[in-house]
Amino acid sequence: MHYLTFQLVPRTSRKPVEDGVALLRQTGLFFLVGGRWTGVLRADYNPEKDLRNVGPCPSCQSNGALGGDIMWPRPGSTQSTLFAGEDCKACDGRGFSLLSTHNWAPFPGDVMPVSELPDEYITPAIVITTEGQQHEMSYPANDANKQAWEEELSGLLSKHADCFVVVADLRR
Ligand SMILES: [Zn+2]
Repeated sequence: MHYLTFQLVPRTSRKPVEDGVALLRQTGLFFLVGGRWTGVLRADYNPEKDLRNVGPCPSCQSNGALGGDIMWPRPGSTQSTLFAGEDCKACDGRGFSLLSTHNWAPFPGDVMPVSELPDEYITPAIVITTEGQQHEMSYPANDANKQAWEEELSGLLSKHADCFVVVADLRR
């Protein structure tokens, strides 16, 4: 599972991402800063539309056609018949595909002062404090537990209103 995690970092930090990474390492779990959750705090950013996150399609070597289906034009044919084979399924024939989240470009909007968090955002599954304490919702995910977590989250954020949030994708 990819857990949306808010790593809190003291506002005095000069390198919040590096300091966030150091705290995230203490979990002993695999994580990425941003990762699948890149841009979650910014409605105007979509990592899947960021050209830095696109690369040659590995399934078709960027030619957009299914392997072995490339047909070279016969004499007199037009350019449009160059790839008469079926479109590559992995990239819909575009020849480019989205890189794995491991290779997504860093996005500055994944670091934000708590005081500047938008009014609405996806509720993080985990919050790790500046002291490295992990907080998360109790399960089962029923209404009572969800409400208790929302309250705990809001308390944690008010208590750390002078901190940065570093968005992380924590896996376990
Ligand atoms: Zn392809």
